[in-house]
Amino acid sequence: MTERYDVLVIGGGPAGYAAAIRSAQLGFKTACVDDWCSPAGEPALGGTCLNAGCIPSKALLESSEFFVQVRDRGSVRGLKLGQLSLDLAAMMAHKDKTVTELTRGIATLFKANGVTWIPGRGKLLPKNQIEISGSAAKQVEAGEIILASGSMPVNFGNAPFDGQRIVDSQGALAFKEVPRRLGVIGAGIIGLELGSVWCRLGSEVVLIEAQEGFLPVVDEQVAREALKQLTAQGLDIRLGTRVLQSRVANDAVVMRYQDQNGEQEKIVDRLIVAVGRRPNTDGLFAPETGLLIDEWGFVHVDEHCRTNLPNVHAVGDVVRGPMLAHKGMEEGIMVAERIAGQATTVDYAIVPSVIYTQPEIAWVGKTEQALKQAGESYRAGVFPFAANGRAKAMGETSGFIKILADAHTDRVRGVHLIGPHCSELVACAVLAMSFGASSEDIMHTMFAHPTLSEALHEASLAVAGRAVHIAQTRRAKP
Ligand code: FAD
Repeated sequence: MTERYDVLVIGGGPAGYAAAIRSAQLGFKTACVDDWCSPAGEPALGGTCLNAGCIPSKALLESSEFFVQVRDRGSVRGLKLGQLSLDLAAMMAHKDKTVTELTRGIATLFKANGVTWIPGRGKLLPKNQIEISGSAAKQVEAGEIILASGSMPVNFGNAPFDGQRIVDSQGALAFKEVPRRLGVIGAGIIGLELGSVWCRLGSEVVLIEAQEGFLPVVDEQVAREALKQLTAQGLDIRLGTRVLQSRVANDAVVMRYQDQNGEQEKIVDRLIVAVGRRPNTDGLFAPETGLLIDEWGFVHVDEHCRTNLPNVHAVGDVVRGPMLAHKGMEEGIMVAERIAGQATTVDYAIVPSVIYTQPEIAWVGKTEQALKQAGESYRAGVFPFAANGRAKAMGETSGFIKILADAHTDRVRGVHLIGPHCSELVACAVLAMSFGASSEDIMHTMFAHPTLSEALHEASLAVAGRAVHIAQTRRAKP
């Protein structure tokens, strides 16, 4: 007899595992098929995020930043250290241990919630059938199917991966030694994070970016500050520059590129290609299912992640919207709850984004340029970390927080942060916006002193021209 589940999820990344766990919590007989294998060849849950994305990159970003703090800033705080040296193998071992513990944690959660984990590849067939290939090859059926197959790096024709010298983001998280000269194609979020890791550890890093503008998705004022700070750290960011060809020669990579001065050549020891990711729909469904894919290759879904097929849903990187783990998780939970008859929704207007460089960059809502372009009137309040007591004590005074509020209703439309721990601070802004807060609501909230979050409070005061810890234009008495 065919194995049958109430809910079957294809993909065990953050979107898929969250959908599976929530489905099981709601009482559905649930299975999750996933084909990821660890470098040791063991099946591993967690998808790109845990195995080759968010977690290993943050482990290396944290470790490399710790290295820089000790090397460059220890003496200012009165720490006298002997000769500092880098044990890259130990740093990588810490990253790998973090990944293993977290991926095993998902397996434990599956067990605790009664989710059946099926290692292997899943393929959607007509009539709610799923073909599973791999060591447990079989066909199963499910009442509801959730596609969560994620995304994969785009292969750039002018710099094809060779897995050794020309690598994708996953390869860049496992270098065995610090490259002396490192090229990165793409100065987007992943390129900047990976470039930062290796720059901190001693590589000479050049980032080649085809676009003229730096971080066009980010608020322009923040992007300007980020470019200044990152360049000062030694990242050589070349905008408006196109790679024409890359070839491996004598244990190095020769990159030919074009900028405003014409064609040039640059030799690097390793090249990371970080030009974007594409939805992973390879072999995901049989054509006779009639599953609709949009013009960019994403599985077509509505705002509730329903595909054009009854009882088939899709979540995470394989559907439209920002390729972010937390967005996928929220979608996975929404779908499970909607299957259970609940009216859960995802508020796509307040998905936070973070770039884990130093300083960290984070934002939620509209940028100032987007508000201007839409002709919306707004008021801005900006507060620099240089005037924040905690940031001073930490010696991390670069950057600022900016709040954009509607000029008529005062409702917060966007919050943009660059500075220390902004990845954590943005949560305050998301919370405020999810409750429809005005800048005055934040102004009337009490923040503990001395904390970095006081900069958010002061930015809200600055919207009304009444920041306490910076001089704002004096107003006439009422
Ligand atoms: P994935 O995590 O890609 O998981 C999909 C899973 O499905 C994989 O295990 C895949 O092998 C499996 N699969 C695919 N097809 C099949 C099939 N047919 N059958 C069975 N299994 C299948 N996002 C953040 O929010 N914060 C970050 O800091 C961050 N950092 C990143 C850093 C890097 C270097 C990279 C590459 C990405 C980063 N991301 C980050 C993005 C984040 O990893 C993705 O948005 C997230 O993993 C998407 O989750 P998902 O569940 O949709 O897909």
